[in-house]
Amino acid sequence: MDLKNKIRVIPDFPEPGIRFKDITTLLQDGESFKYAIDKMAEFARNQNAEIVAGPEARGFVLAAPLAYAMGLGFVPIRKAGKLPGDTVSVSYELEYGKDMLEIHRDAIKPGQRVIIADDLLATGGTIKSTVRLVEELGGVVAGITFMIELSYLPGREKLNGYEVFSLVQY
Ligand code: IMP
Repeated sequence: MDLKNKIRVIPDFPEPGIRFKDITTLLQDGESFKYAIDKMAEFARNQNAEIVAGPEARGFVLAAPLAYAMGLGFVPIRKAGKLPGDTVSVSYELEYGKDMLEIHRDAIKPGQRVIIADDLLATGGTIKSTVRLVEELGGVVAGITFMIELSYLPGREKLNGYEVFSLVQY
């Protein structure tokens, strides 16, 4: 199935020079959405995943149905101040400034095999922070899956040593 064809590229969003990959057009096509989640589930099953984690907001859109499809639990990773329980946090550099991600301290058990899902791998900053949170809780990152990988950016190098699976590459 041609998933790339379902992704809309919007020039100069959110700023001039950026060609934004918009997955909403893929999500609104039921057949493509199902196919994408099924493919991710195939990958995750091969990694013997035990639980699925995803960073807000677009990571939720993929990680939650992926967890459901596999009959596994889902763990949300959120921006600072959103999770109500005791959290572990990590801050990371953005192009301009800093951001912080958090996970509930009791969300993952030591040794549990975790699949991380997000919409897009660019520089890898977001996902590296997610990996750090999972590992800080003693989780084992069994695999990382993306809808889209921008292979002209060094995201995958940052994830050396991890199993990475993406559905569409640019
Ligand atoms: P990274 O941290 O540089 O790898 O950027 C990845 C994050 O930025 C992901 O969580 C994406 O949601 C977001 N992102 C960056 N570029 C795009 C894009 O072209 N389309 C959709 N999301 C993007």
